[in-house]
Amino acid sequence: MRSRTLWGLLLLAVLVSGCAAQAERDVLYQASTINALLEGVYDGTITLGELQKHGDFGIGTFDGLDGEMILLDGCFYQVRGDGKVYRPGPGATTPLATVAFFVADHALAADGPFDLSDLESLLDRTTPERNVPVAIRITGTFKRVKTRSVPKQEKPYPRLIDVTAKQPTFEFHDVKGTLVGFRFPAYMKGIGVPGYHLHFLTADRSGGGHVLEIETEAMRIEMDVKREVFIALPRTEMFNRADLSKDKEAEVRKAEQ
Ligand code: ZN
Repeated sequence: MRSRTLWGLLLLAVLVSGCAAQAERDVLYQASTINALLEGVYDGTITLGELQKHGDFGIGTFDGLDGEMILLDGCFYQVRGDGKVYRPGPGATTPLATVAFFVADHALAADGPFDLSDLESLLDRTTPERNVPVAIRITGTFKRVKTRSVPKQEKPYPRLIDVTAKQPTFEFHDVKGTLVGFRFPAYMKGIGVPGYHLHFLTADRSGGGHVLEIETEAMRIEMDVKREVFIALPRTEMFNRADLSKDKEAEVRKAEQ
């Protein structure tokens, strides 16, 4: 009787420690590649329910390029072309997303004012791990944030730079919120946006988008260094047919900055 209780406790300890989930804590999980998105590969191939198994934090877009994705504290938010924030269900799909379980390796408080390039320099100094991807979460007050989103596209899909040339933009003033995103090393261009890629969500969850410009005030910066990357490539004809052989760094900058 006593030994059976002991085995029960051991089994419970294994279950509580959650070994399998723990193994994934340092993995960055990505669905498809930025170069495929540049080529108009907008069909969603992975459900949000599946993505959630690989992270509680991240960014991306939705089937048909239907807005900007923010995954924060396990909840998905969709900033659509009308600037409003929607809550997509687990059956919604994405053609491109980067997610991870966020566990901060570096944290600091900083008082602005910083514009985007000041902030990027500060983040560079905070994480000297230049050659690995880093997840970034910044919570605070912002004097100004300028974002964009993209409207849902119909087939035949146009290329991303043709969509972003007409992107709707939004401005927020004296607002509380969170920046969610990643820094990818330059050698990962083609897979993700090289350098910084941040999305914004207001604290009241009423607005946000892909960040173009910011002016920060007081903020708490957290960074999570990721040393493993898993890329799930689409099994679709659209992805197979896309020409991903060329360097598209200039196009990425045009579409994302
Ligand atoms: Zn974005």
